[in-house]
Amino acid sequence: MGDVSNCPKCRAIFLRTKFRDVCDKCFKEEEKIFEEVYQYIRKKENRKAMINQVVEDTGVDEDLLIKFIKMGKLKLSQFPNLGYKCESCGSFIQEGSLCATCTNNMRKQLKTYNQEEKRKAELIEKEKKVTFYTKNEE
Ligand SMILES: [Zn+2]
Ligand SMILES: [Zn+2]
Repeated sequence: MGDVSNCPKCRAIFLRTKFRDVCDKCFKEEEKIFEEVYQYIRKKENRKAMINQVVEDTGVDEDLLIKFIKMGKLKLSQFPNLGYKCESCGSFIQEGSLCATCTNNMRKQLKTYNQEEKRKAELIEKEKKVTFYTKNEE
């Protein structure tokens, strides 16, 4: 089952599923582009191409190329120099959306945030108790 949505590319209405995030027409176009990219990159001399080289040589949209990588259509085990930028600092990565450093930073931030939230919650609890107490006193 999927949801009826607008295609992010051409705004056509289509049934969005886990495996399909664009409409049929755009999907077919993407498949065609993928074929071209794949034909290019599977050549021995292109196997070690960097992402910008692929973009330049095939004319593929960089975002689309990254989508292919993220979807696992282009296997990084086969094409070791393909990858994309960390969403936070822009360094070169090959999986997830953040590099190891940023993932670590995120974890630390999350931890601090959780501690802060816990402290706030405790404060609120204390205040509640105080209010409750004063009310009882009256
Ligand atoms: Zn479309
Ligand atoms: Zn990063």
